[in-house]
Amino acid sequence: MAKQPMLKFVSVERDMPEKRPPDLRRTDFQEIYAEYADAKAKEQSSRCSQCGVPYCQSHCPLHNNIPDWLRLTAEGRLQEAYEVSQATNTFPEICGRICPQDRLCEGNCVIEQSGHGTVTIGSVEKYITDTAWENGWVQPITPKAERTESVGIIGAGPGGLAAADVLRRAGVQVTIYDRYDRAGGLLTYGIPGFKLEKDVVMRRNDQLAEGGVTFELNCDVGRDISFADIRAKHDAVIIATGVYKTREIQAPGVGGLGVERAIDFLTASNRKSFGDTVEEFESGRLNAEGKRVVVIGGGDTAMDCVRTSIRQGATSVKCLYRRDRTNMPGSQREVANAEEEGVIFEWLSAPKGFVGDPVTGVMVQKMRLGAPDATGRQAPEVIEGADYIEEADLVITALGFEPEDLPTLWNEPDLPVNRWGTVKADYITGATALDGVYAVGDIVRGASLVVWAIKDGRDCAEAILARLGDAAAIAAE
Ligand SMILES: Cc1cc2nc3c(=O)[nH]c(=O)nc-3n(C[C@H](O)[C@H](O)[C@H](O)COP(=O)(O)OP(=O)(O)OC[C@H]3O[C@@H](n4cnc5c(N)ncnc54)[C@H](O)[C@@H]3O)c2cc1C
Ligand code: SF4
Repeated sequence: MAKQPMLKFVSVERDMPEKRPPDLRRTDFQEIYAEYADAKAKEQSSRCSQCGVPYCQSHCPLHNNIPDWLRLTAEGRLQEAYEVSQATNTFPEICGRICPQDRLCEGNCVIEQSGHGTVTIGSVEKYITDTAWENGWVQPITPKAERTESVGIIGAGPGGLAAADVLRRAGVQVTIYDRYDRAGGLLTYGIPGFKLEKDVVMRRNDQLAEGGVTFELNCDVGRDISFADIRAKHDAVIIATGVYKTREIQAPGVGGLGVERAIDFLTASNRKSFGDTVEEFESGRLNAEGKRVVVIGGGDTAMDCVRTSIRQGATSVKCLYRRDRTNMPGSQREVANAEEEGVIFEWLSAPKGFVGDPVTGVMVQKMRLGAPDATGRQAPEVIEGADYIEEADLVITALGFEPEDLPTLWNEPDLPVNRWGTVKADYITGATALDGVYAVGDIVRGASLVVWAIKDGRDCAEAILARLGDAAAIAAE
């Protein structure tokens, strides 16, 4: 009988792919984890306990068939593992790199709960699809038959791209409109290369274009083309525009030179990685080199800003957050990576204002955690008399994002939005109250995760296909 390749978690220890040493990664924007060697991927996959009720799968937003592709990988059946993995996930190699696995699949792995250390699900998922790309198993879409119906998608982030992939496979004509010059949304211009190298995103954009998806780039809907025109051109429209309005700090000195927004800083840095000329970077405004940098915020965007500043050659990088380490929203894994690279965290510290224009410092208030608020989180309270000035030449604010006012920008007052400005849409199909108009990703959920945008895009595309199918059936009667 063949030897059982699985359930090795008792004898085989958890082992992540090798992490590049901090001194090396401080100097470039390459990803920090190496790829698994084939034998290591097999070995780590064999640790899976093949549970009858896989909690990893139920806590993955895409309900990926994780135990199945782990078993196929352990058995060396990589092409089949790839087929199973890509059946539920449009971009497995991207999720494998940037999902917060500790909060999703890996955080719910049963062997983690039993103290043996989780199966390294994300790293194996990345390995399977990177291998598929290397071996030419990932091919452009070739629909069995072309259909005449067309769908216009506004926004080329993961939500829009995932919807485009499903629709195109069914032969639907798809046009994606995006105001940027490259597709990918925050995968391209938000998330830094040390988490997600840009060629990983670009090859997906190319794959979609080769499969017949039309990209209308440098096209800002509401300015270069009206929303009404897009609706008139297509049988259905998907809004996948993400959230880009920065949540501003209300404090004296905001707006002065050197107090900059996270999205501007990260976009400029990512553009430089593509080799673009970026005026605000060349002028020094959005370049951390030789500067004392202070980043304000405790989420993943703040973590990306501190680590980008280190790589640009800042003389010091500090992160101010008003709660403590345990109560921060960002991933603990990213904080650890940042600390290894030389970032200093000032917990329980909030900005009161900014000194100088150009900025020379941040007025910092020290905080303590008080009684829990309505959400159950301990509310930060000011410690009177403990203020100080933190010297800085560049301050980056990373307090989160809000939706733009789409009904006004697009002159479409009937587009339903809730009081936060996100588009009201059915949580499964993405359908809005406007006939033929759907919405997916961050513009519906508020700032969220790539994997949720992919899930929304796929579900919405399926709903549109069902609707187009029904319409075709009625027309044929
Ligand atoms: C700095 C940063 C780091 C992050 N890190 C992670 C991470 O590690 N892991 C993770 O899972 N998630 C991360 N996220 C969140 C994740 O990137 C988003 O949840 C995800 O990209 C949302 O996808 P989307 O398709 O809804 O929108 P987006 O990716 O924002 O794409 C929207 C697209 O719409 C376009 N657009 C907007 N308005 C218009 C218009 N009027 N006309 C034409 N085009 C328009 C934009 O140009 C953009 O290309 C991060 C976010 C940020 C900001
Ligand atoms: S998509 Fe994300 S949550 Fe799902 S298995 Fe992959 S890494 Fe885990």
